[in-house]
Amino acid sequence: MGLFRPNIDRIEGYIPGEQPQERGWIKLNTNENPYPPSPRVVEALVQAAQGRLNIYPDPLATPFRRVAAGVFGVEPDWILPANGSDENLTLILRSFVDPQDLVAYPYPSYILYETLADIQGGQHQRLLLRPDWSWDLAAARAVTARAKLVLIPNPNSPSGNRWSDDEILSLVPPQGVLVLDEAYGDFADHPHRAELLRRPGAERVIITRSFSKSFSLAGLRLGFAIARPELIAGMIKVKDSYNCDTLSLAGGLAAISDLTTMEQNVAAVRRTRERLAAGLTKLGFDVVPSQANFVWCTHPTGRHKEIYEALKGRKILVRFMKFPEVPYAPGGVLNGLRLTVGTDPEIDSLLRELASIV
Ligand SMILES: *Cc1c(COP(=O)(O)O)cnc(C)c1O
Repeated sequence: MGLFRPNIDRIEGYIPGEQPQERGWIKLNTNENPYPPSPRVVEALVQAAQGRLNIYPDPLATPFRRVAAGVFGVEPDWILPANGSDENLTLILRSFVDPQDLVAYPYPSYILYETLADIQGGQHQRLLLRPDWSWDLAAARAVTARAKLVLIPNPNSPSGNRWSDDEILSLVPPQGVLVLDEAYGDFADHPHRAELLRRPGAERVIITRSFSKSFSLAGLRLGFAIARPELIAGMIKVKDSYNCDTLSLAGGLAAISDLTTMEQNVAAVRRTRERLAAGLTKLGFDVVPSQANFVWCTHPTGRHKEIYEALKGRKILVRFMKFPEVPYAPGGVLNGLRLTVGTDPEIDSLLRELASIV
C-alpha cells in the first residue's frame, strides 16, 4: 500500500529464537547462560529500585563507563553502553550507513546483520565462508575493499569457531568501519580485553560486548561498544538520550565489578561444552570445535528438522537453522542444529533423548 518505506515492506524482519515463558522446558536455543548472575546484581537492582526512579538516568552512564573502561584498559570515553549489544549494532548502522553504502558480513553468521542493513537501506553482501568455516580472504577482501561497514561475530554463530586477530584486521575496510561482535568473546580460550584495538589498522574497529551470555543477564538488556573516542562521540549523537535505564545500568555495573562469578560460570560452561561435543560425536554427529557457549552440529542423515521437532516434543528446545544459497550444501541449503551448552544435567537429558531419536 506504500505506507511503509519500501525497504520495510520488502523484508520479513528478524525472527528471534522461541522464548516460551512457562517453566518446564530445557531451553538450549538462544545461548543464554544456565547459571544465575552474580548475587551482587540482585542487591544492586533492589537498591536502585528503592532509589530515585522518578528521575532520568545519567544519559552518559558515567559510573558504568568508568568501571567497564578499567576492565578493558581504556579510558571511559572509549565505552558506549546500550540496551543490549543488538542496540549497539542498530546505532552503528544508523551512524555509518547511508542508502547505497555497502554492508558486508560473513555467511553463515548472525542473520540480524542483514535485517539491520535492509532496514537502514544499505546494500548488503554476504561473504561466503568455506565449508570448514574458514575465510576465503582474497574473495572477502575484494568485497570489504568497497564496504562502508563490515560486521564479524567472533566467535562466530552458529558455528562457534573463532578467527585470528590478523584475519579480522585484514578485513577492515579502507573507507569504512569494522564491527567485531564479541557477544561470545568470554567463552574463548584467550578472551580479549580489547588489546586488538591498540594495534595498527584497528583505528576504525568497534568491538561490541554483551551482558546476555557470559554475564547471565539476557533478561536485563545491556551491552556496550568499545572504540576510539572519535567513533564513540559520533555514535552518542545518534543514540536516544536515555537508551539505558537506571536498573540495567546498576545491574550491569554490579556484574562487571564481579568478574570472578562470570569467570566461574564460563569455566563450568566450557567443561560441559567438551562433554556435549564428545557425546554428540559418539552419536555420529559432526561437531564444529566451539569457542562459544553452543555447538553447531550436523548429522549424516541430514534430518535436522525432524530431530529438532522430536526434541521439542520432549520439552527440549534447540535451534534448527538453515542458510539458503550455500553452494556447497546439498540442495544449496546448509542446515543443522545449534545447541546451547546448559547445565550438566540438562546436557545429560539432551544426549539421552538424542540417543533414542537418532
Ligand atoms: C546474542 C548475540 C547478540 C545480542 O546480544 P544482546 O546483548 O542480548 O543484544 C549479538 N551478537 C551475537 C552474535 C549474538 O549471538
